Amino acid sequence: MPAHADNSEGRGEQVHVPAARIVFSPEDRAEIASATTEILSTGAMTLAAHTKDFEAAFAAAHSAPFAVAVSSGTAALEIILRSLDVQGADVVVPTNTFAATAFAVLRAGATPVFADVNPDTLALSAATVEAALTPRTRAVVLVHIGGLIPPDVGELARLCTDRGLALVEDAAHAHGCRHGGTAAGSFGIAGSFSFYPTKLITSGEGGMIVTADEAIHEAALVYRDQGKAGFLGNTHIRQGYAWRLSEMHAVTGKVHLRHLDEFLARRAAVAARYDDALDALDGVSRLRLPAGDVCNYYKYIVLPRPGIDRARLKKELKERYGVSLSGEVYEAPLHQQPVFSDYAGRSLPVAEDICARHVCLPLHSDMTDAEADHVTTSFAAALASLDLDR
Ligand SMILES: *Cc1c(COP(=O)(O)O)cnc(C)c1O
Repeated sequence: MPAHADNSEGRGEQVHVPAARIVFSPEDRAEIASATTEILSTGAMTLAAHTKDFEAAFAAAHSAPFAVAVSSGTAALEIILRSLDVQGADVVVPTNTFAATAFAVLRAGATPVFADVNPDTLALSAATVEAALTPRTRAVVLVHIGGLIPPDVGELARLCTDRGLALVEDAAHAHGCRHGGTAAGSFGIAGSFSFYPTKLITSGEGGMIVTADEAIHEAALVYRDQGKAGFLGNTHIRQGYAWRLSEMHAVTGKVHLRHLDEFLARRAAVAARYDDALDALDGVSRLRLPAGDVCNYYKYIVLPRPGIDRARLKKELKERYGVSLSGEVYEAPLHQQPVFSDYAGRSLPVAEDICARHVCLPLHSDMTDAEADHVTTSFAAALASLDLDR
């Protein structure tokens, strides 16, 4: 067990598996504390060396020519959309995403058009996007739900090219994920990542834009710093905002990012155990990852049979087995959320069913095999007891 996992085992006979665990080793904490002391003493508190290091390391980890660190994942997406000048246009987003995806579209001055998803990937496909296009559509925001890059992303990219639409990735779930060797963030014109504490890599708060497009790179640097033409100048050329990342956040993200490969490996090992255990159960299905692809399993998504009482299943797992399931992605689709009632449109049956039914097994970057096995045996037992009461 890693030195920093000071939980779960040896507490009576009950193994307790929390919904999430944030993994910073004692060495990482010490390094961040000492860097913070230095930042405070030098006064170089924003847009300085740690931000540059973090950007360079993040770009390298995602094989991207440019990376721009910003204050949040939402800011990263809004900046990309502003750089694409979507004001007054329609932007397609999946309905099963975090509200921030659609908020970024609205704040960039565009209208979100909610689309349904492919049941095998929980993501947009060429067909579901085509059904949502309008004469005003200018961009499509693909979300890699749970870290799965949809294997049919090539078809969606071709549709976007043929129709002159910008393909943008909200890769808030997809740090380190690859399909056919290409990293998340590089399937369209630009991608946004989040470093919120629940995400695979965290800086406390923060976000990153990756792109190969020089114009978007240049625009992002200007937008994040109040629209100024340069850090030291006072000429404002765009309507920017305080979207900078502080150096304290940047150093936290930089230290955490060093563990990306190790986290990916541990998560894949746990996911393989989950795959085997679930495939032996009746009436549950899971997502399939193409051979050779990399998934970070930001969420390990399971679809129990239709009609399952999710709230009861979660309660049973927690109270009887000490297993807290991770939050859904997502519990309710955005077209059914009160704040988006003006944009609700037609019903989107695939997403509605998946949102209502799926659960996410807890999966931590330092999870032990014993914890993983406790999760799957508890899950099987809880499902069986719900089935008995049917
Ligand atoms: C977390 C998340 C965001 C927002 O990221 P913040 O850093 O909290 O702004 C956007 N989209 C998706 C899909 C997310 O999961």
